[in-house]
Order: sequence, then C-alpha cells, then structure tokens
Amino acid sequence: MRLWIRNPLACLADDAGGGFVIEDGKIAELVASGAQPAKPVDETFDAHRHVVLPGLVNAHHHMYQTLTRAHPQAINKELFPWLKTLYGYWSRLTPDAHRLATRLALTELLMSGCTTAFDHHYLFPQGCEEAIDIQVDEAQKLGLRMVVSRGSMDLSERDGGLPPDSVVQDRDAILADSERVIGRYHEKGEGAMIQIALAPCTPFTVTRELMAETAALARRHGCRLHTHIAETRDETQYCEERLHCRPVDYLEQTGWLGPDVWLAHGIHFNDDEIGRLGRHGLAVCHCPTSNMVLASGHCRTRDLEGAGVAVGLGVDGSASNDNSNLIESVRHALMINRLTYDATITHRDAFRWATEGSARCLGRDDIGRIAAGCQADLALFTLDELRFSGAGDPLAALVLCGAHRADRVMVRGRWLVTDGMPVGIDIERLRHEHGAAARRFFD
Ligand SMILES: [Zn+2]
Repeated sequence: MRLWIRNPLACLADDAGGGFVIEDGKIAELVASGAQPAKPVDETFDAHRHVVLPGLVNAHHHMYQTLTRAHPQAINKELFPWLKTLYGYWSRLTPDAHRLATRLALTELLMSGCTTAFDHHYLFPQGCEEAIDIQVDEAQKLGLRMVVSRGSMDLSERDGGLPPDSVVQDRDAILADSERVIGRYHEKGEGAMIQIALAPCTPFTVTRELMAETAALARRHGCRLHTHIAETRDETQYCEERLHCRPVDYLEQTGWLGPDVWLAHGIHFNDDEIGRLGRHGLAVCHCPTSNMVLASGHCRTRDLEGAGVAVGLGVDGSASNDNSNLIESVRHALMINRLTYDATITHRDAFRWATEGSARCLGRDDIGRIAAGCQADLALFTLDELRFSGAGDPLAALVLCGAHRADRVMVRGRWLVTDGMPVGIDIERLRHEHGAAARRFFD
C-alpha cells in the first residue's frame, strides 16, 4: 500500500514541498512542490492543514516519576535534597503502579508528537523485579517504538551513596537481570521496535565495579550505555571528594568513553572535557525543562555539537518536569539556549535535537528524519488553535507560539493518533486509574 502525505502546509525536510510517499512502514520517496509521485499511489492524505515533522524522539525520561509530580515535600528543591526527599516515596512502587505510570507517560509523549520513547528505569523495589517486562508490554500494546534501559543503583547511604538501602540492589542480581532482558527483548538492526540499553543511574548511586561490569556486558551484546553525568555542581563536588576525580575522568576510568554511550544532562563540563567527549564520539541528551525546574544549569549544546558530540533532547523524569510533553521541551530548549548563547539559536536547532540528535543518542539512523528509506514515523500538527492565529512561518510557529499537542502521529506507517486523540486509549479512564495509583505516593 502506497500512501501519499500530500502537499503539507510545511514539512521539516528538504525538497518535500509536495509531501512524500509511505510504503511498507517506510518513507519511499519525497515529492517536490507541484510534482507527482513517481509511481501510482493507493491512498492520499491531504496535509494542507498540517505542519509535518519527523516523529520526535525522547532520549531521557523516568516514567515511574509520573506518580510523584508536584510532590509537596519535594517541590522547590535542587537535585540532591529533591532526590533524598523522594527516594522513600519511590520505594513504594508496585508493578501495577509502574504499569500505569508507563502507560500514562507513553500516551502523553505520543500525543505530543513522540514516536520513539526512551525510559531510564533504575528502580526495582521488592516485587518490581519485572519492571522492564512491564514497560516492553505497554509499548507493544500502544505501538510506539521504545528503548527501555535496565537501569541500576547498588550504592546506598551505608556505603557513601545518596539513596537508602530500600531502593538499591545487589550487583550480581542487576547484571543477571540485565542479561535476561537483553536476551529476551533487544532487537537489532533497521526498524527495531524494542531495544534494551544498560543504564547505571549516577556516580553517587552506583559503584565503580558496577559501572565497569555494565559497560563490558553491554559491549558483549551490542547494547548502548546511558547514565546521568555532570547534572549539578553537587555531583561534581561528590566526585571530587569521594572518587578523587571529575565526572568525565570517572567515565574514562570505568570504560565509558566510547561511541556507544549517551549521557543525560551534561551541564558542568569544562572545555577540555567537551573535547574529550567529542573525540570519543559520545552523545548528550539535553533536558532543558528539568534543568530549569531543579535550577541545575545550562547545557552547552553549541559547544558540544561544535566538538562533534551529538545533542539530543529529553523531557526527563516526570517529577522534575513535571510532564512528558516533548514538543513543549522543544520550546524550552529554544528559550534556555537563547539565554545561554544568543538569538542565532533557532527553532531548527531545537527540532534537530528532538529528532536526529535524539536518534543519534539511541544509536539510530533510520528514525528522526523525513528522507527516503527512513522509517515512516511522523508527527503532524495543525495551527488551528487561538495561540497560532496570525502566525507567519509555520515551523517557527510550532515552537514560538507553543504547540503542545499533535493532531496526528504515525509510527511505522500506522496512525496512532488521529484528531488529537490516541487510537484505542480511554484517556479519562487512564487518568482516573493513574491518579488513584499516585495517591499512594503522598502521605
Ligand atoms: Zn534523569
């Protein structure tokens, strides 16, 4: 079946003024303005009201945190006190609550134009041993692409770490479960729908041994590696005092400077460290909303890209955002980067981070672009709301006027959102069930 997405109002692609054709879940050809597809089509979708983007790719998140949004005990704090407040609540996670949190976050992401979602899940309290299996099941039911990380924490307060004993695990159990979920779920190659990454949480929650052994395990299986690094000054200070080095040195010592690694936040790097990351081919996921909420600082996106580091975009956990709206984070990325740099940062930079940049974080070149041969993952927005009325440049308007909801979303050639609503999801029921589950996380 050949579907022509015809004559879009605007499209984030070169030479696609007439739209493009989709066949077998992939983009088959681009159509120039005023031209016709090279071969006959079976169906046409008239996109004259739509601004068409490649499906957005979210490169950092913690979906379970949707259960502790705007938590009265945690609001208005920076990262370390915020974490210390929330760990105790998070230890209450149950399989059912985790399933609803994942479903809610994936649905929110999808409705905001996201077609590939990454989750950094590192919380496995007793009873939640199958947390990764639950997330894979939810992604498969919804139909979007997902990269799930088998995250980990094995360093508690008792051994000089930040979290309490109740939320950390034994190193052997972590490595065994990592191997189990890789064997069960990790797809390789073009068009993969489910992939596994390995993701020890942070330098202050994970032992040096687990960092090194996780890297070795991931490389044996061809999985990518992810962790939080250089998020706050507190973290740098922790590394200098406890590990006797700076965060990037720690990555080097544990075998983490490689092209299969992407880092969350990446704020407090010096010039030398940015150069080292570029030479080793790492990527960084910029999380502007979370960085502003926790007052963590500014990611040096332009300097990173200048050094050859790919920059992606993430909403980050829903207790430090506190939503999962990726197109909103595109707007935040534009704004904070204007403050960091100047007005030469444009909406196209922010779109690049949320599409191609995030795809590079996940090690993918088959998503994040509208080009022949790429996967047919799309986000279509209209400019019908009052907030867009009078707007001139349609692509700039999405970011400057504040798009917050896609009208249509396609993954692998299949519409998952139509008329602004996810297909087959009862939104009211989901909100009710998730809200009820979240009440157990408040005193
Ligand atoms: Zn995070």
